[in-house]
Amino acid sequence: MIAAGVKGMTKILIKNGEIITADDNNEIIYGDLLIENDCITQIAPQIDAYHVDQVIEARGKTVIPGFIQTHIHLCQTIFRGQADDMELLDWLKRRIWPLEAAHDEESNYYSAMLGLGELIQGGTTTIVDMETVHHTDAAFQAIAASGIRALSGKVMMDYGDETPLLLQENTDDSVQESVDLLEKWHDFDNGRIKYAFSPRFVISCSEALLTQVRDLSAHYGVHIHSHAAESSGEIEIVRNRTGMRNVTYLDYLGLASERLILAHCIWLDDEEKSIIKDRRVKVSHAPGSNLKLASGIADVPEMMNQGAKVSLGADGAPCNNNLNMLNEMRLAAGIHKPAHGAAAMNAQTVFRMATIEGAKAIGMEDEIGSLEVGKKADLSILDMNDFHVFPSYDVDPVSRIVYAAAASDVETTIINGKVIMKNREIKNIDKNIVLKEADKSIKRLMRRMPHIQYVYNEDK
Ligand SMILES: [Zn+2]
Repeated sequence: MIAAGVKGMTKILIKNGEIITADDNNEIIYGDLLIENDCITQIAPQIDAYHVDQVIEARGKTVIPGFIQTHIHLCQTIFRGQADDMELLDWLKRRIWPLEAAHDEESNYYSAMLGLGELIQGGTTTIVDMETVHHTDAAFQAIAASGIRALSGKVMMDYGDETPLLLQENTDDSVQESVDLLEKWHDFDNGRIKYAFSPRFVISCSEALLTQVRDLSAHYGVHIHSHAAESSGEIEIVRNRTGMRNVTYLDYLGLASERLILAHCIWLDDEEKSIIKDRRVKVSHAPGSNLKLASGIADVPEMMNQGAKVSLGADGAPCNNNLNMLNEMRLAAGIHKPAHGAAAMNAQTVFRMATIEGAKAIGMEDEIGSLEVGKKADLSILDMNDFHVFPSYDVDPVSRIVYAAAASDVETTIINGKVIMKNREIKNIDKNIVLKEADKSIKRLMRRMPHIQYVYNEDK
């Protein structure tokens, strides 16, 4: 018999699991994990089930810290399959920007919900998300309703004329709208949601905008989330405009700090690598996107050897085409081996990149990223009793997750102490409605696409 918990307190007990902690010693504990309200309060071989509200039996199952994806675009999820087999700048100009310009509030909401459903089903519990220019409030509404932990922000684009008119912003308006969203959403639900300033990349941002973002990020103590050195074409454009390489320019403007999260960082010279290390800039490695857009392979093993902080993200659905950390871990483990040897980027290293290193990227390593007493209860339970992950005998549990597990093995996802998904059923997202509305939304956007206005000639 299980008695009701203390009034106002929710207790969840996970029993008999294989608990991969990702703590400093990479300890694996066989036993129980107790959650009280939003925190882990006990991990031990045996915890009595007195006064708990819910017992989750995890015998034969694996409990892991929730994945932290440090580069995601929820606004692009409904563009999945609409921009395959193209290179970055073409992909942006011909498909992604026009589609982003065509978004309305409803389409952005369902795009976010579609992505959030996929993320939660794959065991991702925290995301760093970049939205589009407009309708970001709708994405925050979806994030709030889903229960996921997130840093998000509206994208900022006030420079260049190769974007649809609808995406071209005035500097002051872009900054003001960002600050308004920050004031509304930053620290929502006791800090589950945070705001991050999101200048898209140097190409689409004026110096005035970037320096204001620098000052506002320091003023509010929030992160800056951007892209850098993703394609060779991009760094040529930056060099022609500024006379500097991409990361050098960001440092010259004073943006390079521990609050800066830069996706990709493929085309770097030695000076830029030193800037990233010395200024403690966080790198988000997105191998799936980097391969599909033919962007290149970031020198992650070297950056990590030098002491840079590197985590993982799937990027957007139209350049991946999934938001699945298990894919990203396997790619991160695999693509560097031909150049660096089979022992480089081993399973333990990439598992930590997907968990505790992601927490470090957002300055939350004391709260999430590993399963330890006192930390937030962000975790997932995998049922790996299936053909594709057997045998289990004498197989390293972390290697089993990184090299063999599938997103569909994730059975339960808990975020901030709340059971967000159980037996693959997501509580706060109605799958039937989201799938139907996602299709309706992309159909509406595709109809709008030919009417998207540019100031430049398409053939240029
Ligand atoms: Zn991106």
